[in-house]
Amino acid sequence: MYRTHTCGELRMNHLNKETTLAGWVQTIRKFGSITFIDLRDRYGITQLLLNEKLTEQLDNTPLGREFVITVKGKVSERSNKNINIPTGDIEILVSEFKVLNKSAVPPFTIQDDTDGGEDIRMKYRFLDLRRNAVKKNIELRYAVNRAARNYLHQQNFIDIETPFLIKSTPEGARDFVVPSRMNSGEFYALPQSPQTFKQLLMVSGYDRYYQIVKCFRDEDLRADRQPEFTQIDCEMSFVDQEDILQMFEGMIKSIFKEVKNIDYAETVQRMSWEDAMWNYGNDKPDIRFDLKIANLKVEGKNHFEGLDHSEFAVFNNAETILAISIPGCSDYSRKQTDELIEWVKRPQIGMGGLAFIKYNTDGTLKSSFDKFFNADQLKSFAEFCKANPGDLILILAGREERTRKAISDLRLYMADRLGLRKADEFRLLWVTDFPLFEYDEEGNRWVARHHPFTSPKPEDIEVMIGNNPLIENAEKYLEHPYSKIKANAYDMVLNGNEIGGGSIRIFQRELQEKMFAALGMSKEESQHKFGFLLGAFEYGAPPHGGIAFGFDRLCAILGGSESIRDFIAFPKNNSGRDVMIDAPSTIDEKQLAELQIKLDLK
Ligand code: ASP
Repeated sequence: MYRTHTCGELRMNHLNKETTLAGWVQTIRKFGSITFIDLRDRYGITQLLLNEKLTEQLDNTPLGREFVITVKGKVSERSNKNINIPTGDIEILVSEFKVLNKSAVPPFTIQDDTDGGEDIRMKYRFLDLRRNAVKKNIELRYAVNRAARNYLHQQNFIDIETPFLIKSTPEGARDFVVPSRMNSGEFYALPQSPQTFKQLLMVSGYDRYYQIVKCFRDEDLRADRQPEFTQIDCEMSFVDQEDILQMFEGMIKSIFKEVKNIDYAETVQRMSWEDAMWNYGNDKPDIRFDLKIANLKVEGKNHFEGLDHSEFAVFNNAETILAISIPGCSDYSRKQTDELIEWVKRPQIGMGGLAFIKYNTDGTLKSSFDKFFNADQLKSFAEFCKANPGDLILILAGREERTRKAISDLRLYMADRLGLRKADEFRLLWVTDFPLFEYDEEGNRWVARHHPFTSPKPEDIEVMIGNNPLIENAEKYLEHPYSKIKANAYDMVLNGNEIGGGSIRIFQRELQEKMFAALGMSKEESQHKFGFLLGAFEYGAPPHGGIAFGFDRLCAILGGSESIRDFIAFPKNNSGRDVMIDAPSTIDEKQLAELQIKLDLK
């Protein structure tokens, strides 16, 4: 027998017990004629004490870090207890030990604060996974997985696998494709999500489906994206939006409870997409803190009357002027405000500058544009921004879209500086009422904001059917009736991250065809790409809707981390490479010949 107990198990109540342990050598400390070894396995660390005789044996049997050994011995009380580990009261008086396998010197130390950099740890990910810090993330991932499954099982959901080799229908992201040997010249695609399959399952009558499933998107990897990632993918029949929001609010709360022992008692707050954009500048606001935006001027229209007679060209020329009031920062020094100005000028933010008003604690106001605004004007400016004495009002002016994005980034940046984004505080939010379409300037056409299977709000179906999708005047696309159509879609946001998104689906062939047409697809094209779904809709498709949660991201947030990579056992790097197995890689001529593929590399 290799072991009777694990290395995390033995306590004072096991005193004098004869045990056998197996694991990896964490450290070896020789003290004169005796030796201490820390033995590690998945469950913990136990100290071993080797007497003089066994220590002598070590001279002939070299032992090093990460060697795999098994030992027999008696549990005994330690004279020098270690309160930092659960087994710290005891040690094993070893009577016998055996090396099961030796180890090369690991390229970095297998400890919480390792000396290994990211690259080397990714190359030796199997060693990195031995570290406690990584192991606890993998365990948390499993806990989230289990909690989701438990909940969904209780709610009568059934886990049904859907295929990975499917048909390429790029929409949104690029597909990963796989050549078919048996059907030369033809390709499968890896699913970007099981979307159409889960809808077909609804047509088949499996009214509550879920799957914790890999999805594949060949995107340029912005920070913290993975080409393959995992979703908790769900679909339900005979539901409206309210049913879905209730069901999945329940799921998240139950995950909170099981994984973090958090009772998230309050009803999850809801916000329309319009309100989110207006008050926070983006569609996934972090509501752990307030810092709402003041909309002084929007798309050329002054909302703050004080701008009407301003002589400040920067304000007058701007399409949009937005501000946020930051409490407790009115005493920012010149150096600090200069820093903020530099920050908004960085290419990622892309603003020309930043104006500010210091609303001093004594009630006086001082701005970066005092030349153009007198004390009274500044006062009404501050009032419009709902600022209080002690606030620093930060003002951005420019094109609507960029300015709104910039103020939302600045809001998060300032919240970070003030320590308002606490990793152990969780605030959920439903964002609803998204626009159904987005305007694509390049193609002068509509694209689905969510995906082409999302239904318009019931009251907007007529608008969709009754109007020609053609955009005759690109400049005035906002006046097209389609730009006003709202989607029956919803996102779940956690601490400023979109952790889930879904929609009520179109389930009638005619409306689905209209949707494809609105997206600029010809009849032939939609038949070629989605004929199977349109066909299925003719055989009694029930009303249905669903949602998918980004599982990796959810785990990362619950684990208090920014990086999803830390929560994936074998992740890829920023260039989509697995540096451990060295993939992707070339394939040999024979494989290419079988596929009848010739490379024409540029
Ligand atoms: N399939 C969608 C996605 O991956 C989610 C959904 O609508 O259920 O974003």
